[in-house]
Amino acid sequence: MTIHLHFNRRVPLLRDEDIWLHVAPGVTEAHFPQLFEFAWSELPEDARQAILRQWRALLREKPDRWLVGLTDQLDQRPETREYGMCEQDTGRMFFQASAMLGLDPPVAICIIVHELAHAFLLASGSPDAGNEEVVDRLAHSWGFPMAGIRRKLAGM
Ligand SMILES: [Zn+2]
Repeated sequence: MTIHLHFNRRVPLLRDEDIWLHVAPGVTEAHFPQLFEFAWSELPEDARQAILRQWRALLREKPDRWLVGLTDQLDQRPETREYGMCEQDTGRMFFQASAMLGLDPPVAICIIVHELAHAFLLASGSPDAGNEEVVDRLAHSWGFPMAGIRRKLAGM
């Protein structure tokens, strides 16, 4: 599944790693870069390195491609509302700006960690990169209680 999204600018995301956030027209990133940076800093070093290897391989193919996107182009109906998604064939990820920025920061950070866990499993060659339960267990092992977060989001 390759996702086609339109972004018209980029802002620094992980400055030390030269990784940028691509932002869709009309979207304000607000505190999203800080949320992402915090989530990233909580990952084990080996997970960060694996994701960076995967992302840098994508940039070698196409230097201007997006790796992390922020958009409002997704469906906004509550029953189909998405917070974030990781492309299962590349490990790129994008987030729904209005949904993410409306969450309590700790909840938004858990969602970012969840998408990074997808990317790590993909980068590691795991056959379970698309398995939500496996991804949640990994995020839990990193200190992020996704089961509780899912219950909280389901009740919103
Ligand atoms: Zn997921």
